[in-house]
Amino acid sequence: MEEISLRGKKYRLKIQKKAVRSLRLRLRNKNEIEVTVPQLMPMFLVQQFIKNQSEWIEKTNQKIKKNKDLSKLKSIRILGEKYEVEVKKGLRESLVIIDKKIFINYSDKRKIKKLIDQKMRPWALRIIKEKISELADKYQLNFGKISVKNQSSRFGSCSSQGNLNFNWQIILFPMDKFEHVLWHELAHLTIKNHSRDFWDLMAKYDPKYVENRRWLKTQGAKMFLV
Ligand SMILES: [Zn+2]
Repeated sequence: MEEISLRGKKYRLKIQKKAVRSLRLRLRNKNEIEVTVPQLMPMFLVQQFIKNQSEWIEKTNQKIKKNKDLSKLKSIRILGEKYEVEVKKGLRESLVIIDKKIFINYSDKRKIKKLIDQKMRPWALRIIKEKISELADKYQLNFGKISVKNQSSRFGSCSSQGNLNFNWQIILFPMDKFEHVLWHELAHLTIKNHSRDFWDLMAKYDPKYVENRRWLKTQGAKMFLV
């Protein structure tokens, strides 16, 4: 694999030549740039393109967390509460949560990520639904369907129909930060944009919204497991 240096930092460069019309750039792994290049595009143009995007690359790269070795996981905090984790290698893959313990049985290291993502998702959805009902009740807010996904770039969204979508991993946040994410989307039920009125409403829902928002920007994605 090639390497490229941008703003004093080295990145691995993965180049794929394909029948595409324009160059495509993406970052999936930390410190690794993936480019899909039209068959006949000369390398110097590719290099130039990447250099022009160096600011975006640096910003995006900072957001990507290093792959954690999940087989060494000792505990997980869910809404600030500590859950001990027992990771065991075995043939049958499973993830079971009993009291304050999470048992993960895996056959292959690479499967742990999938197990956590799949098995903890419905659990997170229940927690989120419960909390949303509680918060929405306070101000008689009417919301639509609630669903969970796993998009690392977003914590939540609110559709024009009032359906709420969350990254399930927000349950890994401390309670106040978790609630902040829910309040943000609940506020969008009334105000769709991020106007002054929106932030005024947020101040009412979450008096510590400035501090919580700052935390989410810098720490939020780092809390994610998968
Ligand atoms: Zn928003």
